[in-house]
Amino acid sequence: MNPLSLSAKAAGPMQGIEDIAEKVLTGERIAYDDGMRLFRHSNLTDLAVLADFVRRRKHPELIVTYVIGRNINYTNICWVRCKFCAFYRIPGHAEGYVLPHEAIFRKIEELVAVGGTEVLMQGGVNPRLKIEYFEDLLRQIKARYRVHMHSLSVAEVMHIARLSKLGIEETLRRLHAAGLDSLPGAGGEILDDEVRRQIAPYKDTTEEWLGVMCAAQRIGMPTTATMMYGSVERPDHRMNHLQRVRDLQDETGGFTAFIAWSFQPDDTELGGSRASAFDYLRTTAVSRIFLDNIDNMQASWVTQGPKIAQVALGYGLNDYGSTMMEENVVSAAGTQFVMSIEEMERQIRTAGYIPKRRDTYYRLVNTGASG
Ligand code: SF4
Repeated sequence: MNPLSLSAKAAGPMQGIEDIAEKVLTGERIAYDDGMRLFRHSNLTDLAVLADFVRRRKHPELIVTYVIGRNINYTNICWVRCKFCAFYRIPGHAEGYVLPHEAIFRKIEELVAVGGTEVLMQGGVNPRLKIEYFEDLLRQIKARYRVHMHSLSVAEVMHIARLSKLGIEETLRRLHAAGLDSLPGAGGEILDDEVRRQIAPYKDTTEEWLGVMCAAQRIGMPTTATMMYGSVERPDHRMNHLQRVRDLQDETGGFTAFIAWSFQPDDTELGGSRASAFDYLRTTAVSRIFLDNIDNMQASWVTQGPKIAQVALGYGLNDYGSTMMEENVVSAAGTQFVMSIEEMERQIRTAGYIPKRRDTYYRLVNTGASG
């Protein structure tokens, strides 16, 4: 018998989910209703065992990867006014800003100086910035630095297209040609319009979000997928989200990773309370088990804090994400965690794993260190 299935049996009886456990252990895909049952299953350890089994099947070595990257929030001006967002300022607001190019270059220089490779440049949906602004900025960045631009969101891409009177695919092709390498999954929130209408009524619909991701993947840009849970949604909304991501991945194979993170309520119009660590671990585990066609699952230490992120490595995660260097969007909603490269590696090691640096394509980077 496979030792992993032995450990699964030893950890608990999987009471009430024996049939799902059997599917997971034999490599059979679980169904939507199975996912719903896992969300309701009270024994968190059972979920950890199954998620860890899936993780070890995909990543037998106990390596946890991370990338040295930084966020650059080039503008906070945004007309979309999502109710869960504390970062934006409406056009004309005294605190609205657009960073000068020189300020963006300085931030990238700081990143390059510590061996960083990934720039997550995202901002508000600024009604003044057309495609020429982004093409010019991307070209200037690429002419100066060897960095991977993992930047912009579906909402930004759609707005650039609309403002510039271009189709989505043409917009993406032009941005890609100018230096946009990949598209992060930001703005996925919950891919269910019942939820999207409540938390972000002016933002892209489920179909639009999936359509932009599909278009990006078609032209060869890798993307990631995220899920922001813990606002107004129910477990079936979360499952709808996971199902839609899995379906698109079956078609395109273009998602390199999935990241679940919880709604941060401080100073947001939506308000409310924070989802628990228990909920994070449960959601992480169910995502790992259900999304059998996505290779990498990333921790969200920015929203959960480093201690929960360490624990979550036992719930199916194999990646610690980006060092970030700077984070303004989640921190505007009351969460303030920062981490150095050394601290990130230390945390991965003390959790029992081997830290390895990667690039944005999840390829290991040879650092010369034994790590
Ligand atoms: S989440 Fe993005 S699109 Fe929504 S209000 Fe904030 S900055 Fe604007």
